[in-house]
Amino acid sequence: MFRAVYLEQIDSVTHARVETLSEERLPEGDVSVDIDFSTINYKDGLAITGRFPVVRKWPMIPGIDLAGTVSASSSERFKPGDKVLANGYGIGDIHWGGLAQKARLNSEWLLPIPANFSTRNAMSIGTAGYTAMLCILALEKHGLRPAHGPILVTGAAGGVGSIAIAILAKLGFEVTASTGRLSEAGYLKSLGATEVIDRATLSSAGEMLGAETWAGAIDTVGSATLANVCAMTQYRGAVAACGLAQGLDFPTTVLPFILRNIALYGIDSVMAPYAVRVEAWSRLSLDLDVSKIDAVTQVLGLDEAIPTGSKVLSGEIRGRVVIDVNN
Ligand code: NDP
Repeated sequence: MFRAVYLEQIDSVTHARVETLSEERLPEGDVSVDIDFSTINYKDGLAITGRFPVVRKWPMIPGIDLAGTVSASSSERFKPGDKVLANGYGIGDIHWGGLAQKARLNSEWLLPIPANFSTRNAMSIGTAGYTAMLCILALEKHGLRPAHGPILVTGAAGGVGSIAIAILAKLGFEVTASTGRLSEAGYLKSLGATEVIDRATLSSAGEMLGAETWAGAIDTVGSATLANVCAMTQYRGAVAACGLAQGLDFPTTVLPFILRNIALYGIDSVMAPYAVRVEAWSRLSLDLDVSKIDAVTQVLGLDEAIPTGSKVLSGEIRGRVVIDVNN
């Protein structure tokens, strides 16, 4: 038997509770994992509250991230005792996910945890940190270097934003953090931001082209903010867009693209190819000072996962939340 957050849909309404389940109910997969830690991401908040239809199969165990130890494997890629992590590929929305003490998964979804990370470190980073690294890889592949100028990070006090700041600062970039919580300026500077701006300056409809302010940007909020970020990116700069915390619209014009030659990179973590994941996690193991992220991570028990799902949607969470599923 194992404990899990269990989601059911009754009359189109999502009901969440912590349930004890038999291992026989675990889905098909060639690797079984004893989970140590999971996380609460924005998408988990949407699944747990039912505020947006991210769950595609019912009943569901949410949790898009998990890290733990292989307990049984019929795959040649993993053996019992291996420390592994997984995220994406429909884990937590179509396949039972990480907010549970046990999982059974397809071995092709699992990655070995880099040797310098514990299972807890891996989940302090989680999908948020891995997505932040995918954004940074896109900006680097575009050719951006610290000498080109500052990088803007929006949704700065959230998970993706916080880790993006820490990595960019370690790589030597000047980082401008945009936040709705100016009271968190000290926190953002401790991560490595050199400047903190009020997100209200970006969140309403702005000029089609603004002052060329940033060499590049990582945008986690979308909507008018993303349009303004593009309009204020320097000639031949680049924006990596991964989120929709403000909204999924994108009210822009072609001018930043055809007059400033900027590039907009879309970032998806869920179906990223295996080689890209390996590259991102190996760069995380080199370029992220994980003690900085551990310091801004709250570790909560499984029973606290459900109330935390609502808090993450209302922007009450700073940094990262790790769920100790055995507590
Ligand atoms: P968090 O909830 O941790 O952070 C989101 C942050 O966005 C908040 O902390 C807040 O930052 C800001 N924010 C919230 N509401 C608004 C608003 N109305 N207007 C402007 N800013 C707002 O989420 P994550 O960091 O985990 O994820 C960020 C986004 O990226 C989400 O939309 C998520 O769905 C998406 N995402 C996408 C992935 C992909 O594969 N493409 C993978 C992972 C995440 P502050 O208080 O500093 O303003």
